[in-house]
Amino acid sequence: MNFWDKKYEDFRQQVRAFALERVAPLAVSIDEEQRFPKELIKPLADEGYLGMVVSKKYGGSGFETLQYAIAVEEFSRVCGSTGITIAAHNSLGLWPIYEFGSEEQKRKYLPRGCAGELVAFGLTEPDAGSDAGGTKTRAVIEDDNWIINGSKCWITSATECYAAVVTAKTSDEPGSRGISSFILEKGWDGFVSGKKENKLGLRGSDTAFLHFSDVKVPLENQLGETGGGFKQFMKTLDGGRISIGAMALGLGQGALDCALKYAVEQEATGLSLSKRQGVAFQLADMETELQAARGLIYRAAMMKDEGLAYGPNSAHAKLFASEVGTRCAAKAIAILETGGTRVGEYAAERIWRDVKLCEIGEGTSEIQRIVISRNLVRRYQEELTEKSA
Ligand SMILES: Cc1cc2nc3c(=O)[nH]c(=O)nc-3n(C[C@H](O)[C@H](O)[C@H](O)COP(=O)(O)OP(=O)(O)OC[C@H]3O[C@@H](n4cnc5c(N)ncnc54)[C@H](O)[C@@H]3O)c2cc1C
Repeated sequence: MNFWDKKYEDFRQQVRAFALERVAPLAVSIDEEQRFPKELIKPLADEGYLGMVVSKKYGGSGFETLQYAIAVEEFSRVCGSTGITIAAHNSLGLWPIYEFGSEEQKRKYLPRGCAGELVAFGLTEPDAGSDAGGTKTRAVIEDDNWIINGSKCWITSATECYAAVVTAKTSDEPGSRGISSFILEKGWDGFVSGKKENKLGLRGSDTAFLHFSDVKVPLENQLGETGGGFKQFMKTLDGGRISIGAMALGLGQGALDCALKYAVEQEATGLSLSKRQGVAFQLADMETELQAARGLIYRAAMMKDEGLAYGPNSAHAKLFASEVGTRCAAKAIAILETGGTRVGEYAAERIWRDVKLCEIGEGTSEIQRIVISRNLVRRYQEELTEKSA
C-alpha cells in the first residue's frame, strides 16, 4: 500500500469536491455565528463520512484509516469545525463501541451513528484533563443498574449527540485502575448537556458540558470489562490522534492555499509577491513541513490498518502536524499583510484560531512529548536487556 497510489488521489478528489460544494460555503458564517451546521449532517452521513471507521456489517462505509485521514484532512482544509465534528464522532464516539463493544451494543448503536446520529466521547472533567486518572464521575451498582453522577467538560458534539461513551470511577482503586466506561443515551433521566463553550476557534463545532445526575444505566450498557476504561480510552486516543493530526494538516494546507493565491496574484512594485525571496522562502517552508506532517500521519494510519503498534506514531503525527499547522497559519497571516489580520477577510485568521486547538485536544503537545519520550526510553531499555541476555 502506497499513499501516493491513484486510488487515494481519486478518493481525495472525491472528498474535496464534496467539501468545496457543501462545506466551504458555510465555513465563514458558522464561525461568525458560532452555529453548529445541522444541515450538513445528513449529506455527510449519506456519503459515508459519519461511519468511516465502522465496517459495512454495522452500517459503516468501511474505509481504511488512511482514507479516513485523507477525508478529515480535506474537510478541515475548508472548515476546521466540520473536521472536528467528523473526527470526534468517528474516532472517539463510534470507534470505542466498534472495538470494545459487545455484538448487541454494536448492532444497537453503530448503525444509528453511521446514519448521522452523533456519538460523543466524555473523558475530560474540570479536574481531569491531561491526568485522566483524576476522574471524579462515579458509577455504582444499585438494583441491577449502574447509577452515574458527575460532569464532563469540553465535549465535542455534547449538545447535538444522541449518545455518548463516558468514563466513570467504579472503584476506589487509585488513579487509572478503577475507571470503567459506559454508553449513555441522551433521553435518559438525569443526562443533560450544559454550558456551551465560547471558543477561540472551531466555533462551528458544538463543545459543551455533559452532566449526569443519578443517571440509571442498564448493566448491558457497560463497555468492556469493569476497570478496563483507562486502557480503552488510551487506545481510543491513539487512533483519535491520527485524525487530529489530519485536521491540523488540512488546516495548515488551507493556510498555504490562501497565502499562495495571494502571493501569486498580488503585486508589489511590479513584482508578484511570490517572486520576492522572503515570501517565496516562507511558502517553501510551509510546503515542506506540510509534506513531512502528511508522511507522519499517513504512516501512522497505514500502521493502524496493518495491525501494527502505532501509538507512538500517532503521537508523532499529532504533535508535529498541530505545531506545523499553527506555524503555517501564522506565516500565511504575515504573507497576507494587514488583510491577514482582519477577521473574515481571508481564511488564514480563522485557520489560525482553529488550528491552535489541535495542540490541545486529545492530549496537549506536552502529553505527546511524554508519550514519545517514554516510548524511546522503553525501547532503549528493551535493547539493553536483549543485548545482556
Ligand atoms: C476543541 C476541543 C475539543 C475537545 N473535545 C473533547 C471531547 O470530545 N471529549 C473529551 O473528553 N475531551 C475533549 N477536549 C478536552 C481536551 O482533551 C483537554 O482539554 C486536554 O486533554 C487538556 O486537558 P485540560 O484542558 O484539562 O488541561 P490540563 O491537563 O489542565 O493541562 C494544562 C497545561 O498543563 C500541561 N500539562 C498537564 N500535565 C502535564 C505533564 N504531566 N507534563 C507537562 N505538562 C503538563 C498541559 O500540556 C497544558 O499545557 C477537547 C478540547 C478542545 C480544545
